[in-house]
Formats: sequence, C-alpha cells, structure tokens
Amino acid sequence: MGAGIYVHIPFCKAKCRYCDFASFPDKIGLAESYMACVYREMAKRKEELKNYKFDTLYIGGGTPSVVDENYIAMLLAAARKNFNLSENAEITIEINPGTVSEKKIKTYLACGINRFSVGLQTAVDSQLAEIGRVHDLKQFLLCAKLLKGRNFSVDVMLGLKNQTLADVVKTIETAAYAGANHISAYALTPEDGTPIYTDYLNGELPDSDEVAALYEGALKRLKELGYERYEVSNFCKKGFESRHNLNYWRRGEYIGFGVSASSCINNVRMTNTYDLDEYFKCILTDRIPVISSEVIENDEREEEFIMLALRTSRGLDTLEFKRQFGGDFCEKYAAQIQKVREYIEFNGDFVKIKEQFLFVQNSVIIEFFR
Ligand code: SF4
Repeated sequence: MGAGIYVHIPFCKAKCRYCDFASFPDKIGLAESYMACVYREMAKRKEELKNYKFDTLYIGGGTPSVVDENYIAMLLAAARKNFNLSENAEITIEINPGTVSEKKIKTYLACGINRFSVGLQTAVDSQLAEIGRVHDLKQFLLCAKLLKGRNFSVDVMLGLKNQTLADVVKTIETAAYAGANHISAYALTPEDGTPIYTDYLNGELPDSDEVAALYEGALKRLKELGYERYEVSNFCKKGFESRHNLNYWRRGEYIGFGVSASSCINNVRMTNTYDLDEYFKCILTDRIPVISSEVIENDEREEEFIMLALRTSRGLDTLEFKRQFGGDFCEKYAAQIQKVREYIEFNGDFVKIKEQFLFVQNSVIIEFFR
C-alpha cells in the first residue's frame, strides 16, 4: 500500500459548539494566501518525497468546501506536479452541506476528486442548530442530490443533547436513502475549552451508558441497511472502505500539509503549527512550519500497531506483526491475551476483539500495555 497525503483547510463559516479543530471562521479572507502557502509547502517537500508513491489524498478541515473551488483544483494540480500520485488514487474532500453548489461539485469532479465526506451529524434540525452547524436537513438533502451516484460518506454524531435512538436511526436512514456508501458514526467528545464542555459539566449530555445504547442501536440499523463495520466508528457497503483511513490504521506512512497537519514518514512524526499567523510566517521565510518532531521508537511503534489494529473488525495481522517487530504475537503477549481472552477471538492469522465488545475496545486494548 502506498502512502497518504492530507491537506488541512482551516476555514469555516462559523465555529460549531463542539469543535476543537484548527478552524478560523473569522479569517476566511486569508484563504487565497493560505492556499498559496500550502502549494509552496508541497513544492518544498518534493525532493524529500520523490521516491514515495501516494495512493490517497484527503482534503480535510475546517471546511474545504467553503473556499473557492478553483483553489481546490489548483491544490490537486500542485499535488500531482510535486508528488507521484497513483492513477487510481482515492481523492476525498470533506464538504459541509451549507457550503456547496452544483458548480463546486462539478469542479471537484473535473479535477479528479472521487470521494466526498459530508458532515451531516444529525438529521434533526433543532439538534443541528444546538451544536452550531451552519446547515439544516434540507441543505443536506440538496447536497446529497448533487452527489447522487457518486462515492460519498456521511458523518453521524452520537451523544448530542436530548438525542434519542429514534433521532440516530432517522439520521442513518437519511444518509442511507440519500445514497451514502460509507457512514462514520462517532461519539461526541466534549473537549475542555469548547462551549459544549459546559453542557457536559452541567450533565446535559447523555452519559457513557446512554451513548453506548445509541451506538448499539446505530450498529443494528446500519447492519440491516447493508453497512458492514470495518472499524469501531466506520461502516460501509462492500468495497467502500476509506483507503486513506485504512492506511492510518495499518500504520502506513502519510504526509500532511497546512496548519495543524501531521506527517509520519520513516518513523518520524511531525506536526505543523496550529497558529495560522505562524504558519504564514514560516512558509514566507522558508522555514518548515513544524512545532513538534519525534522519532517513534520500536516499542512505541509496536504499541501503536496493536492499538490501531485492534480497533478494526479485521483485527491484528500476526504475520504482519512478525514481519515488522519479530516474534510471535500470541507468545509475546500470552499473559495479556489470557486476561482478555473472553473479549477476543482468533481467526486464522488474525486476532480481533469480538464484535460485541468493539465499542468498549479501549478497556480491552489497555490490558496489552499494563
Ligand atoms: S465545520 Fe468542522 S471544522 Fe468547522 S467548526 Fe464545525 S466541526 Fe469545526
């Protein structure tokens, strides 16, 4: 499998109440200059990455669909000019239903984007307003109409204030009937410093048992609708797994461009600055915009491999473990396996967490590191 490219576009129409991503709604006027800096950052790393083949490119944010579509087309041209992007690369763009138009989608398709990730979150308008999304259900349906017959994914959020299982099922059905072949169902994480954290402190959000029940209900309905779970929060119709995310979960290499983007190449993990002004300054003075860089030592690589692999439905490939780290996984972790034996199962060369325990995988995975 080749490596992945991630590009971060840090602009949005407004800040959602739960958001702690690098996104700057009040700085959208800087989009043109920012994109020029991203093209420059790519050009700077061309030489270093000349032997890499990239199989996926993911444009995330922020809201990539909020900027002029021609900047996205230029971004694709810059990526192709500087890097060896496979002919059949998976090229994804995140879009917010409140910021798309037919013209934008046509431009995206013309420049080779072949996968769309649509942030719906909930099909209940009052909940969309509550979390500060800039779109309503009607706009999602219009957006889905523009994507009809295309390869698209829909994000669904679990654990919103007053959210019932019926709301979750309605959201999943809305995505499914609109033609999504991939659905990501994530539990809301109230991060300290976001407005929604106050709701959490006030006990206004569903507790972990209630969220687990929403997840169970979501899982059941997704299965009935023909979506297979391939990672704890990700479901798809056969053959529509996100190749970009599979690369992360298999500890593949990736390179990130733009504010807050991370790279992991040659077992060195680097993260770009979260500060937009600092990013501009670095690029314009020919400095790399990196705020942290660490070599990932063998022990940590092994931990990451185990943790990421056990999040997936496929589980941990013991042959791949042997190839990368030497030794037999089952022998090396015999004591830990013994402790979590009732939660895991063996399938040929794979060790996986049993389906019914995947949602609480953290408590199983943690046992491997005690
Ligand atoms: S659209 Fe996404 S990145 Fe933008 S504010 Fe909302 S959650 Fe954050």
